Amino acid sequence: MTGSKAASSLSPQEAVARLRGEIEQHNYRYYVQDDPSVSDAEYDTLMRELIALETAHPELVTAESPTQRVGAAPLAAFGSVTHAVPMLSLGNAFEAEDVLDFDKRVTDTLRSAGLLGPEDETDYFCELKLDGLAISLRYEKGLLVQAATRGDGQTGEDVTSNIRTIRSVPLKLKGAAPDVLEVRGEVLMFRADFDRLNQAQGERGEKIFVNPRNAAAGSLRQLDPRITAQRSLRFFAYSWGEVHGLPRSQHGEYEEPAPGTRQTSTLPRDTHGGMLAWLGELGLPINVKHNKHVRGAAGLLGFYEDVGKLRASLPYDIDGVVYKVDALPAQKVLGFVARAPRFALAHKFPAEEATTELLDIEVQVGRTGAITPVARLKPVFVGGVTVTNATLHNEGEIRRKDVRKGDTVIVRRAGDVIPEVVGPVLAKRPPEVAAGDNAWTYPTSCPVCGSAIERPEGEAIARCTGGLFCAAQRKQTLQHAAGRKALDIEGLGEKLVEQLVDKGRVKSLADIFGLTADELAEYDRMGAKSAENLVAAIDKARQPTLGRLLFALGIRHVGESTARDVARHFGDMDAIMNASEEQLLAVTDVGPAVAASIHRFFAEHHNREIIEALRKHGVHPVAEAAARGGVLAGKTVVLTGTMPNWTRDDATRHILAAGGKVSGSVSRKTAYVVAGEDAGSKLAKAQELGVPILDEDGLKALLGSDE
Ligand code: NAD
Repeated sequence: MTGSKAASSLSPQEAVARLRGEIEQHNYRYYVQDDPSVSDAEYDTLMRELIALETAHPELVTAESPTQRVGAAPLAAFGSVTHAVPMLSLGNAFEAEDVLDFDKRVTDTLRSAGLLGPEDETDYFCELKLDGLAISLRYEKGLLVQAATRGDGQTGEDVTSNIRTIRSVPLKLKGAAPDVLEVRGEVLMFRADFDRLNQAQGERGEKIFVNPRNAAAGSLRQLDPRITAQRSLRFFAYSWGEVHGLPRSQHGEYEEPAPGTRQTSTLPRDTHGGMLAWLGELGLPINVKHNKHVRGAAGLLGFYEDVGKLRASLPYDIDGVVYKVDALPAQKVLGFVARAPRFALAHKFPAEEATTELLDIEVQVGRTGAITPVARLKPVFVGGVTVTNATLHNEGEIRRKDVRKGDTVIVRRAGDVIPEVVGPVLAKRPPEVAAGDNAWTYPTSCPVCGSAIERPEGEAIARCTGGLFCAAQRKQTLQHAAGRKALDIEGLGEKLVEQLVDKGRVKSLADIFGLTADELAEYDRMGAKSAENLVAAIDKARQPTLGRLLFALGIRHVGESTARDVARHFGDMDAIMNASEEQLLAVTDVGPAVAASIHRFFAEHHNREIIEALRKHGVHPVAEAAARGGVLAGKTVVLTGTMPNWTRDDATRHILAAGGKVSGSVSRKTAYVVAGEDAGSKLAKAQELGVPILDEDGLKALLGSDE
């Protein structure tokens, strides 16, 4: 949407009218149809433009403006519910500066109202801004009698039957409930449930949802509650509306309000956090794990930063955090503006989704030949970086999502995850794209080496059959081999590998060991010094452990620990190369797929030649057997908790070097449990089973280590 450009040549009246029209349309698609056609970031830009114009021309502000109103009118198909206390939106902040302004406004007001001393800072209650939809639950005498969407804030849709299908929403409150309690909170869908739903929708040829928020809204606003019942929705409470008629508990916890007293005095607690704890006691789900009390602007920004780090690992989407003044009397003094309270603020994170144009679909060849379709995109800023490529996973996904070249697509980049194309914006599909068919299929030959591409029956992934003949696979195999967990050749990076393969200088892993400093110095971005360092690193790699070398070969299904187990079991390379599938199956943790893969690898003549060539270049793995006589030979150790000096990796390395194995679970066969600080259930289990328990010093003593 280019509201800004078009609007700049218009008069303020015209620009305001145009922006309002556009925003109303987006509101309708988002809140009523659950089918947005622009990303939230784009919507927010339009809204900010409108706010800026209205601030510059206050005479243009009307009660109907989207800046003054919440959401959109409810859909007539549902019964309507008038909220006893309106459901508002939240003021937004995108920058730290906005947060400082908010804190200053709040603190100044509270100081002049005498609610804070001149030096005191404001206490805030901080929450996650859950990305779902707002719901009001009405309990009468402890029983759920009605549930409504926010709608336009005054009137919402009656979704009682649908809400009753959500397991985390109590139908009856625990303990002493008031006569009337309206609970406000968010209905949302966890990401794993969202993925499962979309998978099933795709298989049935039904609508694919663009994100969990959209799926939650679409699932809740169903006319048939049986459909809602099949969707995994969750609920978290974060506020309340009408509260009336508190019971006089025999412990004297709540008092009947004195006649004529004001709203806050009818509440059992006088802080926001206290109220949420009370809702929790009544059996309502509260996000206890992440809610936090803080003080002052520094506290708010600290919370924002901490949650930002957590964001990608949460099981659900959040689009920011919410700050609320904790003391209810202070909230009352601060009051409300048209569509939001003055005592709360939503501090948004950079958007993880954006829309852009899909220019083309190309394929990339991975280390094991896996062919991945990649979207070439018109550059777009998302998740804090400019993205030009995004994965489309595989052919099945492209069909399921019905993504076509020329579409406007939603791109998602969450945390450090590889950007992906979520799906097309159908409303923006050009007619010529709509007229074509969704016929993207894997190419039949590899774009890099020309070998056939095959997709084995029942597998989602197609592969180039070129193996190490394929330059793309070779490059990635070499990079894998140089990796820290394989041969650990520092300085042999992506760019250099690319040049070495493209120039035909390195055809297999063995060729790496023939490189000289003189020739390396000639390559781009290499000087004499770095060439020498690299040659020294290569030299050091001539004596890897057998497990590392096996892992470095990049055999499909053979990860670091499988490689180590196989190396331990057989003791030398020849034995592994000559092992039958049956013999390989005798290795602990090696199943049929792994055994077949190793066997197939060494049945290939050219792979045996690589081993031969490595030997000629002086590469001689040291058998893991060196560790056989170690103090922990044949013993399994479990690590739990945090050790004062050693990391888990350090401890693992030392245990392996002493011939031991590290396992994740405690059993009678466990030789030792090494317990650090905050050790949990594993320690308890060890005590129960009588497994010897060591601390870091104990482990070091056992290993004879003075590190
Ligand atoms: P909002 O989503 O920015 O904030 C208010 C809402 O936050 C509440 O109604 C509640 O549902 C939710 N919330 C989550 N956690 C909360 C907590 N702990 N405490 C209180 N509330 C919490 O405001 P809004 O008015 O619902 O929607 C505006 C936003 O919706 C826009 O900024 C945009 O991101 C999106 N939107 C997008 C489109 C589009 O077309 N893409 C259209 C309309 C709105």
